[in-house]
This record gives sequence, structure tokens and C-alpha cells, in this order.
Amino acid sequence: MSQTHRVINFYAGPAGLPRPALERAQKELLDFENTGMSVMEISHRAKEYDAVHEEAISLTKELLNLPSNYKVLLLQGGGNLQFAMLPLNILHGGRTADYIVSGTWAKKAYKEAKIVCGDAAKLAASTEEENFSRLPYQRELKLNPNAAYVHFTSNNTIYGTQYNDFPETGSVPLACDMSSDMMWRPFDVKRFGFIYAGAQKNLGPSGLVLAIIRDDFLAQCRDDIATMLRYKIHAEKNSLYNTPPCFSIYILRNVLAYNKSIGGLAAVEKNNQEKGRLLYGCIDRNKDFYRPIVKEPAHRSLMNIVFRLPTEDLDAKFVSEAKKQGMIGLKGYRDLGGVRVSTYNAVTVDNVKTLVAFMEEFVKNNG
Ligand SMILES: *Cc1c(COP(=O)(O)O)cnc(C)c1O
Repeated sequence: MSQTHRVINFYAGPAGLPRPALERAQKELLDFENTGMSVMEISHRAKEYDAVHEEAISLTKELLNLPSNYKVLLLQGGGNLQFAMLPLNILHGGRTADYIVSGTWAKKAYKEAKIVCGDAAKLAASTEEENFSRLPYQRELKLNPNAAYVHFTSNNTIYGTQYNDFPETGSVPLACDMSSDMMWRPFDVKRFGFIYAGAQKNLGPSGLVLAIIRDDFLAQCRDDIATMLRYKIHAEKNSLYNTPPCFSIYILRNVLAYNKSIGGLAAVEKNNQEKGRLLYGCIDRNKDFYRPIVKEPAHRSLMNIVFRLPTEDLDAKFVSEAKKQGMIGLKGYRDLGGVRVSTYNAVTVDNVKTLVAFMEEFVKNNG
């Protein structure tokens, strides 16, 4: 199509989107489906919008292979609102939940649950004393077999750790913040009562949260809280209780349709595994120079790869020289420093090859 200039985008979020999903939006922007309007300018009760809404939901079901006892919810308020909404809906009538604290976001989820439900939110384990450089091990988890759920964060965006195998919780359902790795691979949703993901890392624009809730989980939700905070209302109204973020949902539709067109989540995973192999291969070959922050190799993330160079000056030089070569968003998280490479689904294998060639050259010149 066009020769429009595009950078190689390694931002942690909001992050890059697949080019075909954006080009489709560009093509459809002024005149969506022969309406003479953009999708942003149409009533959310109109049939043209309704088709987009339904397609986003049905593509989610298809890509995740969702069993019929799950509902898809399209919510607002970011991942952060879910930190409060989940315990508010479920932890009533004496129910409790166990929280695995493996990073900044996981800790926020736990703290927010305490604010809204007090002692009903219990700490299952934390690796904060080790600066979140690994995930808690299974044997460290203090789990109550009668808990309503066990909450965890599948990918720790800031520290670069990710669950390959989800925590074992017996018959207790999992509740998960998948904001930074939703749909990075196929997985079995059956152990999950609830999953939520802010869209702006792996799925689409900000302003939208994709959530999945199991029917038995939904049945436990409260009816006596503010209407907008009730999962039951959003489920009953098919996420159209109030005006949804129509444009964000439209872009989600484009991203999911693109994922389907390349072969679904199996194809997405294949790309992600290849990207990880290339990038960690380079880090492992040069581990005195690109020093991993994650201490447990089995816990390394394929979405956010974090490392430090021998000095802070070199960190800064690395980021600025990469930028000159068209690669942006590599500066580490503000409290952690170093370098963070976010390789969400929209980052291509070729993008990572370009980065790895730069990294090999950078070691030669500065190592
Ligand atoms: C980015 C992120 C969030 C924050 O989500 P908001 O949409 O900004 O509220 C929550 N959890 C994880 C794991 C994240 O990566």
C-alpha cells in the first residue's frame, strides 16, 4: 500500500498494532460499510455498529476456543478498574480469595481488593523481597481450598516474568490479569473463572478491557452494587448497557480478524516463540553484556524482555542509538532502569531480527 514511514515499535503499552489492522481502519475511516460515516459516528444501537460488536465477541470466542459456559465482556476503566470490580462482585457472603503477588500490577490488584473487601483478600505468596526477579514457586503458595478464586498476573510487564504453566489450585478457579499477554498463544480456559486484559498491549487501543467470565462465576456476582460495576448487567446487556468504546472495539475486531487470517493463535504463538528464541539467543550469547534481570530462566517472559548493560551510560547509549535506527520504546521501566524490549503480537519476527543485528553490533563496538 502506501510508503508511510513507520518505526519499529517496542513500546510496553500502548503498543504497536498489526499494520493490516490499521490499514483496514484507514480504508474504512471516512465511509464505513457504505454508511457515509466513520464507525465512531454511528449510534451504538445501529445495525452497522452491532455487526462490529458481535464480530469482536465471536472472534474472541473462536480464537480462544471458548466453551459455551463462558461469556465475553467488553468493559471500560482499564485493567485497574478490574482490580476493584472483581473482588467487589465476588467477595461477599463470607467468600475469600488468594492473591499471588509477582510484580507491581499483581500487588496493585491485591491492594485494591483489600480496599474494597478488606480481609477477604489474602496473600498467597509474594516475591517482592527478591525485587520480583522470579515468580513464586508452586510450593510457596499458601492456598485455601475454599477460596472463591486465586488471582494472578500471567505476564509481569515491568519485571519480564511470565507463567508458562499456570498455578495449580485444585478445584479453586483461577482469576487472571492477562493485560500484557492475552492471546499470545492458545491456552485452555477451563480452569479460569475470570480473565481480563486491558486491550492496549496485545489486542487494540486503550479504553477497552476484554474480559471472559464463566457462568458459575457470574452467578456468584452481586446485584446490590452500583450498576456500572456489576458484571451481571454487562453480561445481560451484551456489553451494551451504556455507550461502549465503539472505535476501540472496532480496532479490536480488526486485530482479531487479522490474527484469524494468519492462522489463529497457533500461528501467533509460533511467531512469538521464534522472536523469543532470537532475542534470548542473543542475550545468552552475550550474557556478560546484556545482563538479565530475571533470575529464573524458566520464568522469562516472551512479551517483555528486560536486561541491563554494564553501566547506566551504556543503557542510555543503547536506547538512543537504537532510536536513530528506527527502533523506539526500549527504555526500561522508570523504577527499574535498564532496557525493556516489548515484543507483543504485533512485533514481527523481522522486527526482532533487526534488533538482534543491532544488539550484536552494539556489543562489538561497546563490549
Ligand atoms: C498495563 C497493565 C495494567 C494497567 O492497565 P490500565 O489499562 O492502564 O488500567 C494492568 N495489569 C498489567 C499486567 C499491565 O501490564
